[in-house]
Order: sequence, then structure tokens, then C-alpha cells
Amino acid sequence: MRIGLFTDSQLKKVKAAHSTAPYHIIADSTYIGLANANDIVEVFLEGGKISILFRGNKLSKFKKISFYTINKEESIEFTGVIPSIKSRQYEGDFEFSLANNAMRLVNMVELDTYLEGVVESESGTGQKLEYYKVQALISRTYALKFRNKHLEDGYEICDRVHCQAYLHKRMGNSIIDSAVRQTTLKVIYDQNNELAPSYFSANCGGQTCNPAHVWNETIDGLTSFKDTFCIYTKQATWKKSIPEAEWISYLVNTYNFPIDDSLSRQLLFHFVQPERTAFYLHPGYGIPMRDIREKFHLKSSFFNTRKEGDFIIVEGRGYGHGVGLCQEGAMKMARNGYSYDQIIRFYFPSVKIDDFTYK
Ligand SMILES: [Zn+2]
Ligand SMILES: [Zn+2]
Repeated sequence: MRIGLFTDSQLKKVKAAHSTAPYHIIADSTYIGLANANDIVEVFLEGGKISILFRGNKLSKFKKISFYTINKEESIEFTGVIPSIKSRQYEGDFEFSLANNAMRLVNMVELDTYLEGVVESESGTGQKLEYYKVQALISRTYALKFRNKHLEDGYEICDRVHCQAYLHKRMGNSIIDSAVRQTTLKVIYDQNNELAPSYFSANCGGQTCNPAHVWNETIDGLTSFKDTFCIYTKQATWKKSIPEAEWISYLVNTYNFPIDDSLSRQLLFHFVQPERTAFYLHPGYGIPMRDIREKFHLKSSFFNTRKEGDFIIVEGRGYGHGVGLCQEGAMKMARNGYSYDQIIRFYFPSVKIDDFTYK
């Protein structure tokens, strides 16, 4: 896989250090040398080209600088100097190249090695093996299904939540590594034998969301259903107060909400959503729940409202878009003894689990 790193930053200067094994450095067709653990290598943008500082020597005017490891199990640490970004360690090979007045850094890494970093970045530590297998399968399926997503950017998938969080290499958590290796090649196929749309979010709030409410399109095999596994977990409920004036002005200015009509005005502050709906109050007002969530940075679009003084109290359930697999529900299922395939089939009832094959 080719994974874009630090893709939310315009990289101008990066430091590479603390390699756990020597790395060959090649700039265009020039061999620069072998970097060891105690070498600090700087790669930076200068005059529209890439320069490198290695053991006191500066070499300039390159288009591409590559780091090739002599042992793929080993890692190197990258730190953003301009802009300043905290150090991150990754395994595999690396390539700096030019991109829009900045540098692009791509990590060339085996799929399962990448997944070990993703599974830990996306679901943290302290979970059951069967849960990590679930996350490994959905993340593997996602990576293979969407590997063309960033081709224009010079890599396949980015390191952000936009694709899947990949914040570091595997941290040596043996249960995560085993979950990835024990499920190697395994992916989720939909009823048409295509890689399934393996969406997931942190907590569905007790009912998964119809994809049409989020993206305006239905997705085969993904519907809304009740999930009781996540309702007593830590992100199951939330609350936020919003000044009444802000609430009114958004709904009136954006959706021409009929505020002068006394019946509508009454409704505006009292909304109960026992089941997920696409629109606030009534579809006739045309106010998508999804838009309110985005506007007020709410944790989910599954909420009730009421008025208290000059504030609208928004009381919600769940965290994230709610489509597909619910991570906290799946974690609970794993703690209750369900196997990874039972968990996957609960959230994606029409899929099958099989080894990945290139078509
Ligand atoms: Zn992305
Ligand atoms: Zn849930």
C-alpha cells in the first residue's frame, strides 16, 4: 500500500531520526548513504525543489528522496519541523516528493503492517481479540475498496479519519497484531460479491443510521436497525446547550423557518426523536438533521431538543454518523463472548466473509 502521511499539513521541513535499522537514502538517482539510529536526516523544500542534510552535507535540487529499509520490521521516526508536528514512527519504505509548494511523504508498507497501526489508531487498547479482528476486517475491506481514493494525490489512502486514522506503526500490542495476522486476507463482501461498504462509527446511539440520511444515497445491505449493545457505554449520551438566538437565526436564515407562525414557533424548541429521522421536526420544513449536526458540531444527528431559559438544550445519543458498524456496540459484543464473524453479521446482515482475491 502507498499511504500518505501528515496529509493534513503542508510539509516544508521534516526530520528523520531514531531508525531501528539502517535505511538507504536515495535522492533521484544519487545514492546519499546509509542512515543509522544516531543519524538525524533533514529533508526540506528549497527553491521549489527538495534538499537533504545528511551528516553535515547539504545536497539540493531533487524531485524525490527515498528511504529504503534493509529490514522491513524496523521503523524510523519522522518529526515535522516546518510546520511543527509531533514525532511519529512508521515501518516500511518512504518517499518524499514535490506537491503543490510543499512535500508529500508516502509510506510504502505491507497491508497487514499498515492495518496493525490502523486498528490501534482507530480503536485504542484494552479490547478483546474478537473485537480487534472485527476492526481488522472492516479496515482491510475499506483499504482495498477505496485504494483509488487519493490516486491524484500520489498515494492510495491518507492517514486521517477521512480514510482511516493511521497515526503510528504497530506499538507491539500482541493482541492487535494477532488479530490482524489471524485474519490475514479476510475481507467482507456484499451480496454482489463486491467489497462491502464497511462504514463504521464510534457509537450509533442505539439505532444505526440509514446512509441516505448522511449521504443522500442508499447503500445496498446497509439499513437502519436497533442496537442494544451500545446503549450503556461511555459515549451513549451527550448534552449541549446552544443560545436560543443562534438556534433561531440558523433555522430562519438557512431554511426560512416560519418563526412568525405561532404553532411552528412552539415546535421549534421541542423535538423528540424516539427513532432516527432524516429531518428536524417534520420533513415539510426541509431541515436535515445532518446539517444541524454539522452546523453546531454535535456528536451525532440523533437528538431531542427543549428550551431552558435562553438556551436550547440538545440531548443526544451516539457519536459519529452511525452508519454501519457501531464500534462500542461491537466492543460490548466481543466482551459478551460473540465471535468476530457473528459481530460482523449483526451489523452487516447480508455480507459474507471470505479471502480477498484480485479480480
Ligand atoms: Zn483520505
Ligand atoms: Zn450502537
